[in-house]
Amino acid sequence: MERSVTNPPPHRYAGRGFDRAAPRRKDPTWLASRRADPRTRVVLMHELKAVIADAATPRLHLPSLAELNMELPEDAPLLGELDGDAVFTVSLAATHPLAARASDVREIGPNLEAGEAGLAAYARALAYWHDTHGFCSRCGGPTWVDEGGHARRCDPCQRTVFPRTDPAVIVLVHHEDHCLLGRAHHFPGNVYSTLAGFVEPGESLEDTIRREIFEEAGVVVTDMHYRSSQPWPFPASLMLGFYATAEARTLAVDADELADAQWFHKDELFNPMTRPVSLPRPDSIARWLIESWLYGH
Ligand SMILES: [Zn+2]
Repeated sequence: MERSVTNPPPHRYAGRGFDRAAPRRKDPTWLASRRADPRTRVVLMHELKAVIADAATPRLHLPSLAELNMELPEDAPLLGELDGDAVFTVSLAATHPLAARASDVREIGPNLEAGEAGLAAYARALAYWHDTHGFCSRCGGPTWVDEGGHARRCDPCQRTVFPRTDPAVIVLVHHEDHCLLGRAHHFPGNVYSTLAGFVEPGESLEDTIRREIFEEAGVVVTDMHYRSSQPWPFPASLMLGFYATAEARTLAVDADELADAQWFHKDELFNPMTRPVSLPRPDSIARWLIESWLYGH
């Protein structure tokens, strides 16, 4: 039986062709004209949550400056352009009436329209970065916003920092008709997922995969194939999805890292109604990696 897969590429939270206007960020004249244009639109954030429109289904609130009757703060980061209008993101004070409608992007993300989910995730990632980089990590001096919100500069030590994304591998390890899934201590319900880990300094992605899979589950992988990637800005990750073949169906679970890990046969997982475990959330690349292997896509 043919089954469709959840969250195929481009995965949820990816940009989907959104124009980031990267070359124009460095043009102060263009930025000033966009900041002053009443048609300019805004993604409103409050404490890293996105303001949602009043609607039956969750929609991202994307008002124009004219609708909001507000002036854009000087340091509001530019996200890009949508249908010819500039889009900025603004962090609201708790006292602003719209702050009450802010929702956790991670919670509403699965239900937003895909383009809006990408925009909300992007705005959240930038808001988090600004929130945590107000001071220079070298000299402790205050930093100021430059390049339309895509750089921060420290005057005393002449240093510029840019938003960072932390690469993490996420790996469907398989051996013949079995795959290896694990359960982290914080996972809800009976969820089992693909193993994952952050890339450490000086590692290639292949090094990370070999190290993580062996550390967490005692499994040696012999070859690896890149599948696709997903931005996961909660707060700053880029998930790099791989398939990897195991040398054998060994298992030695590291109890610090995982509550459990098991090898599952395809037949056990194939039917969602009779599965012994739950698969990860529908907006994750993990879900797609598992289902695309399971259903042979
Ligand atoms: Zn400094």
